[in-house]
Amino acid sequence: MLPVIALVGRPNVGKSTLFNRLTRSRDALVADFPGLTRDRKYGTASFEQRQFIVIDTGGISGDEVGIDAAMAEQSLLAIDEADVVLFLVDARDGVTSPDIGIANHLRKQQKPCYLVVNKVDGLDGDSESADFYTLGLGGLIQIAASHGRGVSKLIDAVLSPLDEAFADMHIEQTTAQDEELDAEEQLKLLQALPIKLAIVGKPNVGKSTLTNRILGEERVVVYDLPGTTRDSIFIPMQRDERDYVLIDTAGVRKRRKVADAVEKFSIVKTLQAIEEANVVLLVVDAREGISDQDLSLLGFILNAGRSLVMAVNKWDGLDHDIKEDIKRELDRRLGFVDFARLHFISALHGSGVGNLFESVQEAYASATKRINTSLLTEIMDMAQADHQPPLVRGRRIKMKYAHAGGYNPPVVVIHGNQVKDMPDSYKRYLTNYYRKSLQVMGTPIKIEFREGA
Ligand code: GDP
Ligand code: GDP
Repeated sequence: MLPVIALVGRPNVGKSTLFNRLTRSRDALVADFPGLTRDRKYGTASFEQRQFIVIDTGGISGDEVGIDAAMAEQSLLAIDEADVVLFLVDARDGVTSPDIGIANHLRKQQKPCYLVVNKVDGLDGDSESADFYTLGLGGLIQIAASHGRGVSKLIDAVLSPLDEAFADMHIEQTTAQDEELDAEEQLKLLQALPIKLAIVGKPNVGKSTLTNRILGEERVVVYDLPGTTRDSIFIPMQRDERDYVLIDTAGVRKRRKVADAVEKFSIVKTLQAIEEANVVLLVVDAREGISDQDLSLLGFILNAGRSLVMAVNKWDGLDHDIKEDIKRELDRRLGFVDFARLHFISALHGSGVGNLFESVQEAYASATKRINTSLLTEIMDMAQADHQPPLVRGRRIKMKYAHAGGYNPPVVVIHGNQVKDMPDSYKRYLTNYYRKSLQVMGTPIKIEFREGA
């Protein structure tokens, strides 16, 4: 599980500047979820060895009638979903009345909260900050987000106290994605553990109908737990003699409660479920096509390296021409995930649901298929013979050998000369070459380059 940091404060204090700084690394992924979360932005961040999710909540101006109403509308959910709240204020403006309103609100929350005084560049931070102690939020941290000053100290200060809690959780749920394990140990774990399957998608696409369908009606009631907005429910199950843990983001519940779907939707929950899963089943609505929200979720799934199966739901009651149109549109928009199987299903009537598990098993088998060094090197040699890597500064990039660096997703580590300069186009060519040669389906393949032997 990744810790979640929410940034709150009135407009112009520097929230998005800080957000951008935290999510600037190569691995970071930022998504707006238009329509769902007006004025909220989510990012996964890798910042100085730490990984976390950060939410930029947009501004609370305080001009709205009653600060509580404004907070409720814009930031309450984000605060609710967060492990830590960073309350940003502007050193140049001093304490303003919206700041006082926000502080009053935050004091009532049962959440670790830090007061962050931004824009201390060119100022005597200590004297400018003194005023802010009157907000009654305890210790404060000074930064200059646009210069990066104080930012690593800030992240360290807010996340270190959580290290233990998150480490415990990690041990409890020992996942095979642990970077300290070598590839062979990872593989052993992955093959011994149940497949963690997350069912994700935007609200109303049919996740809970599908989950109910998969589990069978009677069992659902047992798991009809209230749950918090943030936590997914983990449901052990068996299918074709294979053990699974279903990670349910929709909250399985009795039929008559299905109308709650939208209120129960949480992006943090969805992102955590993706992180936690081995295989992700992304549900989309045939009648709505691929939306920006679907693409954002796909981005997170790919970024996390998860295996993927896609279900196009509500395939019932559509006439032939419309189905053809939908298929063409899907082909056009989903070219970048052509490694994933696409199923046309009706969760409501059950058609196509049974076949999903074949693809889930195939994806997991592909993601955890043992690959040895000599095979990987052989494929690399063939790819190189078919199509040479380009010249860089007059010298040709030379790949020498490859080995497995991990599983779920399969990681191919390639050693050679100047491989650090490998252009993305050649990397894509190699990825496709490996995909075809290894005959994997349903999992991304990750290629990493190491300079020298
Ligand atoms: P938001 O509305 O809270 O998201 O604020 P922004 O991140 O958009 O920042 C508002 C303005 O403050 C922009 O013009 C930023 O360039 C500026 N700003 C942000 N951080 C700093 C800082 O550390 N120092 C200074 N001098 N300006 C900053
Ligand atoms: P969730 O928010 O993703 O969990 O979506 P729900 O499972 O609550 O479904 C949202 C709505 O879509 C409900 O009214 C369902 O009855 C309906 N629905 C779900 N699956 C199907 C399907 O396969 N076909 C049709 N026609 N409607 C469906």
